[in-house]
Amino acid sequence: MPNLTRRSVLLGLGASALAACVTAPTSVVTWPPARPFPKVLVERDRITRTVVGLRPYRAQGFRLEAERFGEKIVVHNYGHGGSGVTLSWGTSQRAAVMAGEAGRLDVAVLGGGVMGLTSALILARRGYVVTVYAEAMHPNTTSNIAGALWRPSSLYSRDVATEEFLALNAKVTREAHRGFLPYVNRPGYGVSWVQHSDLTNTVPEQRRELPGGDELYPDLEILTRETRFGFAYEERCHSLMIDPDYYLDMLMKDAQAAGAKFIARRFETLDEVLALAQPVIVNCTGLGARTLFGDETLTPIRGQLTHLLPQPEIDYSYIVGGLYMFPRKTGLVLGGSHNADDWSLDVREDQVRRMIDGHAALAEKAAYSTYSEP
Ligand SMILES: Cc1cc2nc3c(=O)[nH]c(=O)nc-3n(C[C@H](O)[C@H](O)[C@H](O)COP(=O)(O)OP(=O)(O)OC[C@H]3O[C@@H](n4cnc5c(N)ncnc54)[C@H](O)[C@@H]3O)c2cc1C
Repeated sequence: MPNLTRRSVLLGLGASALAACVTAPTSVVTWPPARPFPKVLVERDRITRTVVGLRPYRAQGFRLEAERFGEKIVVHNYGHGGSGVTLSWGTSQRAAVMAGEAGRLDVAVLGGGVMGLTSALILARRGYVVTVYAEAMHPNTTSNIAGALWRPSSLYSRDVATEEFLALNAKVTREAHRGFLPYVNRPGYGVSWVQHSDLTNTVPEQRRELPGGDELYPDLEILTRETRFGFAYEERCHSLMIDPDYYLDMLMKDAQAAGAKFIARRFETLDEVLALAQPVIVNCTGLGARTLFGDETLTPIRGQLTHLLPQPEIDYSYIVGGLYMFPRKTGLVLGGSHNADDWSLDVREDQVRRMIDGHAALAEKAAYSTYSEP
């Protein structure tokens, strides 16, 4: 596969144009300038914390639909697996439309993670009287744990998801992307573009488009030479990166400023939920919906992340095999563990070791890569 990148095309055109009009060459200028690839300092004494979370996974994909219980309407918006932050604007906008179709002013939102906060914000801005009920609030939700690269993953099983779901998911993914764009580089929100690399040891026979369509990932380059860390194949692009510590904080403040009220409360049964005064309830309880709404198709995919001290010079991210690295202002996030049907929230030392050793080995290879300013 040829290495046809925008940069090489630009350089090629520049060279022939110069040859036509310049007689005495002066100096060769490369643009953008290459520099040594900054290396992630993967050392144990740079670890700031290791956290564990459970992705709310459904093999058939997220649940987004209205259900009637007597006089009450429950709009379900849960089960986003490893893509909840990514899809939050997409499914929450649709959930808010469904809630509005009930034609009632008072709405309860169950859940204070990214889905609950986004749904509450949208509804409150549309003039609804919104009350958010949640056992855990920011900063103690699964959404706070997320690595939060904008990239649908661990969302459904290709063997189980229907064509109808896949079509809906494609639309929701694009809507979700559009929802995040106004937040890029907005002070305090922790949303930015990062130059991201997906790396593999083999060149795929047939390339699949990135989730939602390649156009959602600007500057996409397909590389088989001069790849990051010398892998056989690289898809390099710009991706949105969200820092949940900043983002969820601002989302909650925005929802409060729009009038949403927050009440800390745990619901043990569906009857307790249906006893709420509000006639319309938006269910954003994530994995909690398994017990509360009896959805046994909802299962955890456990993930463990190790955070390192910040390195402001690291302005790229990567995913390779079972490892990823995402840069934040507050530190570097090392992740990539996926344990299906595993409910344990305990930190596993063997997984910390795998992260440290795996990323350290990649960092060693960084010395042989060069890098252009994104
Ligand atoms: C390690 C890891 C890495 C991840 N990386 C990414 C990533 O890179 N990109 C991405 O997009 N996503 C990622 N995710 C997935 C993402 O975190 C989830 O999909 C998302 O957080 C789900 O949001 P939610 O609001 O539905 O659920 P949650 O954040 O779990 O919120 C659920 C809310 O419901 C409340 N609740 C539940 N049950 C009850 C009850 N009975 N009574 C009262 N309240 C209740 C909870 O207290 C909480 O407030 C990752 C997840 C993990 C664990």
